[in-house]
Amino acid sequence: MGLVPTMGNLHAGHRSLLARARNECPFVIATIFVNPIQFDNREDLDKYPRTWEADVRLCQDVGVDAIFAPSIETMYPPQSSTFVEVKGLQDLLCGRHRPGHFVGVATVVAKLFNIVPADVAYFGLKDFQQTAVIQRMVSDLNFPIEIRLCPTVREPDGLAMSSRNSRLSADHRRQATVLYRMLRRVSDKVSEGLRDVSQLRRYALEELSSAPDAVLDYLEWVDPSTLLAVDKVHQPTVVATAVQFGGVRLIDNMLLEPGSPS
Ligand code: AMP
Repeated sequence: MGLVPTMGNLHAGHRSLLARARNECPFVIATIFVNPIQFDNREDLDKYPRTWEADVRLCQDVGVDAIFAPSIETMYPPQSSTFVEVKGLQDLLCGRHRPGHFVGVATVVAKLFNIVPADVAYFGLKDFQQTAVIQRMVSDLNFPIEIRLCPTVREPDGLAMSSRNSRLSADHRRQATVLYRMLRRVSDKVSEGLRDVSQLRRYALEELSSAPDAVLDYLEWVDPSTLLAVDKVHQPTVVATAVQFGGVRLIDNMLLEPGSPS
C-alpha cells in the first residue's frame, strides 16, 4: 500500500507523487488534511485554499483507490497531548522562522503512519527539510515504512509548484521566478568549479536583487542529512532558501553535486 499525505489543493506536484505511487503500488491512498498544528500563524491556516471537489477529481483521474480526509476532531480530540519532536532538525532553516511547524508535521505524519497501514509513503523534495525530518523520525521511532522522495515539479518558468503561488499578485508571481534563477546560478557556479559558500552567496544575492520586492528569510548551504551549514561545497550539498513576496512565503532548494575534485 502506498500513502501520499497532502493538505489538498492538489496540483501537478501532488499529482506526480500520486502517479508514482499508482505506478509502484497495488493500492494507493491519498490523505487530505489541513493540519492545524503545523501552522504557526492563524491567518495562514484560514487562508489555506480548500478545493475538495477538484482534489477528488484529480485523485480519480490518477486512479487513487481511497482518500482519507479526517476531521480535526478525529485527528486531535480534545484530550490529545502527545507530540513528536525531531530535535535539532526541527529548529534549523524553516524551523527558525516557523516555531512549532515541524513538531506539527512530525506529529501528523506519525499519526497517519499509524492509522494507514501503508508499506511506502511518498514525499516531495520541494519540502526538503520536511523529508529530512520525516526520514529521521522513521528511523528513530522504527516505523515499518519506506519513504520515497520525488523531484520538485515546476511551472514552465521554473517556479516550484505550491498552493501558495495563487496568493501572489501578478507582479509578485513574475518576480517569484527569481528563486529558481538564484538556485540555478549557484548550481552553474558549482559546475564551473566554485566551492566557497561566501562567494556562491554573493552570486545568489546578486540574482535575488533583480526582484525588487523579495524579502529574504534565509539562504543556506547545508549537509542533506544533518541540515547543518557548510562553508564549502565539497560533498553533495543542498542550497535552501525561503523568500517572501508581499507576505507570501515561498521555499525552494536544489541539490548541488560537486563531482570529483579536478
Ligand atoms: P502539501 O499538500 O503542500 O503538504 O504537500 C503534500 C506533498 O506534496 C508533500 O510531500 C510535498 O513535498 C509534495 N509537493 C508539494 N509541492 C510539490 C512540488 N511542486 N513538486 C513535488 N512535490 C510537491
